[in-house]
Amino acid sequence: MSSLAAQLTALLPSATVLEPGESTSAYAHDESLLGSYPPHAIVLASSASDVQKVLTYAQSMRLPVVPRGAGSGKSGGAVPERGGIVVSLERMNRILEISPADGVAVVEPGVILETLQNAVEDQGLFYPPDPNSQAICTIGGNLAHNAGGPRALKYGVTKDYVLGLEAVLPTGELIKCGHRSWKGVAGYDLTQLLVGSEGTLAVITQATLKLIPLPRRAETLLAFFSSEDDAARGCQAVFAAGLLPRACELLDATVMQAVSGRAPFKFPEGVGGGLIVEFDGLDEGVMQEVVRAGEACQQAHALDVIVAQDESQRRRIWETRRMISPSLKAMRPDKLSEDVCVPRGRLVELIRAVRGIGKKHGLLTACYGHAGDGNLHVNLLFGSPEERKTSAAAVDEVIEAALSLGGTITGEHGVGMAKRGFVTRELGGEQIALQKRLKAAFDPHNILNPGKIFP
Ligand SMILES: Cc1cc2nc3c(=O)[nH]c(=O)nc-3n(C[C@H](O)[C@H](O)[C@H](O)COP(=O)(O)OP(=O)(O)OC[C@H]3O[C@@H](n4cnc5c(N)ncnc54)[C@H](O)[C@@H]3O)c2cc1C
Repeated sequence: MSSLAAQLTALLPSATVLEPGESTSAYAHDESLLGSYPPHAIVLASSASDVQKVLTYAQSMRLPVVPRGAGSGKSGGAVPERGGIVVSLERMNRILEISPADGVAVVEPGVILETLQNAVEDQGLFYPPDPNSQAICTIGGNLAHNAGGPRALKYGVTKDYVLGLEAVLPTGELIKCGHRSWKGVAGYDLTQLLVGSEGTLAVITQATLKLIPLPRRAETLLAFFSSEDDAARGCQAVFAAGLLPRACELLDATVMQAVSGRAPFKFPEGVGGGLIVEFDGLDEGVMQEVVRAGEACQQAHALDVIVAQDESQRRRIWETRRMISPSLKAMRPDKLSEDVCVPRGRLVELIRAVRGIGKKHGLLTACYGHAGDGNLHVNLLFGSPEERKTSAAAVDEVIEAALSLGGTITGEHGVGMAKRGFVTRELGGEQIALQKRLKAAFDPHNILNPGKIFP
């Protein structure tokens, strides 16, 4: 055993300390494909007190500490790029309380999102944030990345459902911020500062989350268009009709081609774009809304509109959405996946810009995702090492296009390692300097997830 692992084992009798090796290789990377960096030791914490001891020790030794949930992140946030200690919260996975009276859940950070969703739905309650990784990702990772998903369109993202946090600062101090009540404005809002801070300011050890009543009905349609531009206009038409769906997902021509052979629906001749639109609520009004959205799509020249007639058809529509990523891999073995976001009114311009960038570089591109809030997953598909290089160059142009349309470099995946080279372009030097001063106030020796976010 290394001396670091031995010291941590002695310090942390209630935690498990692992050393880097084949069986722990998962802790060296996340889902970003940004490389594998083995840490010097991995601590599976069982309590906030374990986390405090690790950080106090690491502070005294000036060792990097990287918090980790499930490692499903797509921006390298949980990658221990500089070695040091990975603190995994996976074993702190208890739902401590669900209170229908207060409309809150109190959870440890390692709870899997889907586990929480199922538990609250059993009690007629709803926790809306729904990243598509919900079967594997943890609440801690969702908080640190301020995760979104299709339902963010109507319900907002993770930050909108966080009332209070318990967290350990890099100095080892335990803080409690926020409140259990649905309102509270005392002092600086440290809760919201920690949300989205990508594990660079504190390690979250407990969260008080807001729950709302579970919608009783959800109704879904799939509209087919002859082009992706028409699909984007269909999205605008739904909003122009005065409707607010809970999800509005776009599929471009490449995506329609990729999924057409596998999808549980026959696609019409000449299809070049698609929209999945879903509404929810309490009663029959929901069906009226989906019918009105279908009419809006038809006025925007949809080739055909399918409205799910039952729960199994609804699920099949969403299956089509979930098969996008594997289907694209069948077209080209690899892809760089950006998650830029633009104001909804600029969607067609973004799609056109991406198409132009692909054409210029001879690359196959795909755009899909949360069109309703302007957040598209822009994929640059490649097969050869040369194409990979070209894709990396093309990413720069995709980012520039999003920024020039008044958008952002990342709508939900976070900056991490992946976007730190671009962050100054969006935030500007003065804001970066202020954010670095904030980081230093929390973490004077820069031990917590060093190197992430900042250029
Ligand atoms: C198939 C797939 C689909 C996805 N779909 C979406 C989507 O629709 N929307 C979306 O937003 N994301 C999506 N993601 C990205 C990812 O799942 C989310 O970012 C998720 O929130 C990460 O959770 P995690 O537990 O895996 O965190 P990790 O990857 O382990 O960590 C993510 C970040 O959080 C930090 N962190 C983790 N736990 C803590 C803690 N307790 N305290 C402080 N910091 C912590 C880490 O240091 C890191 O910076 C998807 C990923 C995959 C693989």
